[in-house]
Amino acid sequence: MNSPAPINENGFADLHLHTLFSDGTFTPEELALRGGQAGLAALALTDHDTVEGCQRMALACEGLGIEFIPGAELTAEHHDREVHLLGYFLDVHHPTLLAEIKKFQAVRQDRVREMAAKLNQLNVPLRAETVFELANCRSPGRPHVARAMVQEGFCASLEEAFERFLKKGRSAWVPKYKISALDAMDLIHQAGGLAVLAHPGLNRNDDVIPDLAGLGLDGLECFHTRHTARMSEHYLNMAQRLKLAVTGGSDCHGFSKGKPLIGTVKLAAVYLERLKEARQSPAGAA
Ligand code: AMP
Ligand code: ZN
Ligand code: FE
Ligand code: FE
Repeated sequence: MNSPAPINENGFADLHLHTLFSDGTFTPEELALRGGQAGLAALALTDHDTVEGCQRMALACEGLGIEFIPGAELTAEHHDREVHLLGYFLDVHHPTLLAEIKKFQAVRQDRVREMAAKLNQLNVPLRAETVFELANCRSPGRPHVARAMVQEGFCASLEEAFERFLKKGRSAWVPKYKISALDAMDLIHQAGGLAVLAHPGLNRNDDVIPDLAGLGLDGLECFHTRHTARMSEHYLNMAQRLKLAVTGGSDCHGFSKGKPLIGTVKLAAVYLERLKEARQSPAGAA
């Protein structure tokens, strides 16, 4: 992948985006186009447990004069708490990364089968195959199960599917095997990337942040759709204290969660430049 000209100092980036290679609804090309329309100068693709969309998105961004950062969002855990780790500047051909991703995806597919089996026991005759056909990707998740339930008329809305069946602790919820945060960060570093903790404000557990910083975390997603201005301020202070890079993004899933969010969170170019500087001395480097 060629690296285009660096982001203009007045430009903005959206570094948290999903396509239909995981649970978003846009193709990489549609997402790049919408990024351009939103006036963004740089975009990162961070699909759940996959980098499959990155090459297409890189090409689309190149054609539009947008800087592109290949990434992924890995579901991990630290002391039994789920954390999402964003990997940026990943080598999308790295054999170890691809082998691990294959395992995560197998776990996701098994989990869909288990959720369908639970639903069947609850007299909801959803077939796992229906979910796979609808998802049409290797990283299926609960949003796809919820969409299939609506499509088949078992629930009126995605919210209802989550509330009644799929939320943590609900009747068809299935826990997911997760890689440890330490292993996820190692994997990201092995693949040449930087590891950033996604949406810390949603975790409601700031204690993990100094812990992860000590274990190799490179950055903190201070700006996110679901962060209030106060939360962003709080995490900016924390990032400064812990010497972590600052990132931000909309977490756009296309039409899967209401309106497309791309461009509604704008990261100033200076932060992206600092993130790139952190590549010269990643926290995980020996
Ligand atoms: P999974 O990777 O299968 O655990 O699914 C996680 C995805 O489900 C994320 O994109 C979440 O934003 C989405 N999700 C989690 N809880 C809800 C909810 N209550 N309503 C809608 N989407 C949700
Ligand atoms: Zn998602
Ligand atoms: Fe996430
Ligand atoms: Fe996300």
